[in-house]
Amino acid sequence: MSHAVFLHAAGDARVAPFNLREGVPGETLIDVAAVGLCGSDLHYYKDGGIGSAVIAAPFVPGHEFSGWLTEDLPALGLARGSLVAVDPNQACGHCEHCRAGHPNLCPEVVFIGAPPNDGAMTERIWVPTSQIVPVPQHFTPSDAVMLEPLGVAIHAVDLAKPRLLERVALLGCGPIGLLILQVLRTVGVGEILVCDPQPHRRALALKLGASKAGESVADIAKWTDEGLPLVIEATNAPEGFRDAVRAARIGGRIVLVGIPDGDSYVIPAAEARRRGLTIKFSRRMGHVYPRAIELVALGKVDVEAVVSHRFGLDEGPEAFRRHAANEAGMVKSLIYPSGPAARRR
Ligand SMILES: [Zn+2]
Ligand SMILES: [Zn+2]
Repeated sequence: MSHAVFLHAAGDARVAPFNLREGVPGETLIDVAAVGLCGSDLHYYKDGGIGSAVIAAPFVPGHEFSGWLTEDLPALGLARGSLVAVDPNQACGHCEHCRAGHPNLCPEVVFIGAPPNDGAMTERIWVPTSQIVPVPQHFTPSDAVMLEPLGVAIHAVDLAKPRLLERVALLGCGPIGLLILQVLRTVGVGEILVCDPQPHRRALALKLGASKAGESVADIAKWTDEGLPLVIEATNAPEGFRDAVRAARIGGRIVLVGIPDGDSYVIPAAEARRRGLTIKFSRRMGHVYPRAIELVALGKVDVEAVVSHRFGLDEGPEAFRRHAANEAGMVKSLIYPSGPAARRR
């Protein structure tokens, strides 16, 4: 019998036996190597849902994961035991949005690890073979897990269309913010001014290339006379949108990546209107895995630097609790269903 971490309701995560269902044609069974605890998983834990997506029945979270194949996949040139990543976003492929190249916006999407679809915080999972992403075999399980959040960061920077040497404000130095920071560094922007209330996250941001790191947007405002032309928001705060507006200069652009606690923004309309801002909402990612793999393989993004904690499956509920409590030192946690030391078999 395998086990899984279940989210029952807000504040209620439990490990329990998990009945692995039968696979269907077109699916492959993988042994989960590692699975990330994402900010969105944490929203389910803290709020019991994200907007209209609520926990109606206990479900297994986990959409950022890597695993080992339990069978050969000759079509992908992969043998049993190969490490693979999985793209959790199974878009329909034929709606207007998919056809326009926006699979992340597909209304028919089946997303692994978003209720009611069980995710990967378990030992084994059936996944659509079409969602399997081959990775270089020198990648570690955590490298392969981090491709998904890195993909979210790449998508956000794509939407932002930064200009050469443009100064950027980045609000929030959680895992996504720190990955966005590193992607921004590869595209040749100017100074990157960041803020985050947690000192260990600011320190990490400086280490990963931020020019200056402040506690709040007030610091960024102090460092710039008229605000910045580009602001990327990657917080979980209802004030994130407002703060992004305050960091932006007249005519500036904002990309909102974060999911606010409580699913509401606090935003004084006049401040945004008077600046004539252009605002984009970033939603998951598009077809970005090839670039995510290349950035990691070339060493241009250090995904490992963002991983602060590793847990076994039994410790999953503890990981949720400690993140929800904003414990100092925590950035990104990965859960290893067969233990952090497990190697490819
Ligand atoms: Zn995620
Ligand atoms: Zn579609």
